[in-house]
Amino acid sequence: MIPDQPRPPDKITRLRGACFLLAAGLLAAVAARQMLPARWDEPVFPSRSMSRVLRISDYFSGLKHTRADTEIYLFEGREPGGAMLVMGGTHPNEPAGFLTAVLLAENLSVERGRVFVIPRANHSGFTHTEPGEAHPMSFAIPTSAGTRRFRCGCRFTNPLDQWPDPEVYLHHPSGQRLSGPETRNLNRSFPGRADGNFTERLAFAVTALIEREQIDLVMDLHEASPEYPVINAIVAHERAMDVAALANLTLQAEGISFALEPSPQNFHGLTHREIGDATPALAILMESANLMQGRLRGRCDAGLILDGKDPWYLAAARAGLLRVPYDEAGIPLDVRVGRHLAGIRAITDALNFISPDRAISLSGIPTYSEVQQRGVGAFLSPK
Ligand SMILES: [Zn+2]
Repeated sequence: MIPDQPRPPDKITRLRGACFLLAAGLLAAVAARQMLPARWDEPVFPSRSMSRVLRISDYFSGLKHTRADTEIYLFEGREPGGAMLVMGGTHPNEPAGFLTAVLLAENLSVERGRVFVIPRANHSGFTHTEPGEAHPMSFAIPTSAGTRRFRCGCRFTNPLDQWPDPEVYLHHPSGQRLSGPETRNLNRSFPGRADGNFTERLAFAVTALIEREQIDLVMDLHEASPEYPVINAIVAHERAMDVAALANLTLQAEGISFALEPSPQNFHGLTHREIGDATPALAILMESANLMQGRLRGRCDAGLILDGKDPWYLAAARAGLLRVPYDEAGIPLDVRVGRHLAGIRAITDALNFISPDRAISLSGIPTYSEVQQRGVGAFLSPK
């Protein structure tokens, strides 16, 4: 007996199939239109006094052709002096840290010494957005040359680059135990290792840069939630404490209040601890207050990044629950970037006072009050 041959699909079934494929294609196209720009870096327009653009893979070739590779803007003065590294975007969900480094690269002039600026320290983290947090994918800043849009990334390396996470993350070389996803946190991965995971290799490359370029001072720019205990703070390795304390006096005299925090000796993987321990550089981290990272906020959109205004935080401030002053004026991005810039100036001046033989002479950085008067966008106009 001949088995029944499958009947070819009728016209209606074929039509349904074609419609389904067309709808899936349209959906994929719409999603791709949103997702693809996350893979493209927004341009940075370095100031005319920049000497060269380097890449982190110049210091560790194992990162070539990976999403960890990132641009480094080098400014060299005519006179020899010290060397400084400024890192933004170690945590790509902290916009003021990243944007301060961009603004610095676009305005800086160095007369003495050398300055290395990395705006996207964890470049991979800029290619995705914090899952489950409803963060905006980007934010826009008006400038005189038009609107500039910037990515809002994730605290962690993209899982497309490093996966799966272990149950427990063991920091190398201390053996400190942290939760599994911290294995993709650049600021828990220092000093790094050449044969480690993706994020450890990136940390290793940054440490290699610091050693090869004989960096005297590292400044790592961060943000944290307003209820976090270490906020509006300068965190300094014990060897950097003199420089940080002197800078803090200058900042207090200018009316800009920072807490001075010693780097905990037993909290491993962070720049201010591991770079200070593993290299001769003085290591300092700065924190500003970012509502987007907080647990108490309501709606989280690009407006919250720009103006830092939220009714729930206002209620929390009135109940005395915050670690920073907070009122109806919010904590705008202009304030947070202005604080980081003021910190960079004060810390550089303090280094110059304490180590005049390794002085670094800078100009072109707007003051805190200039940023408040004119807004961040005034200093992000391609010239
Ligand atoms: Zn951070």
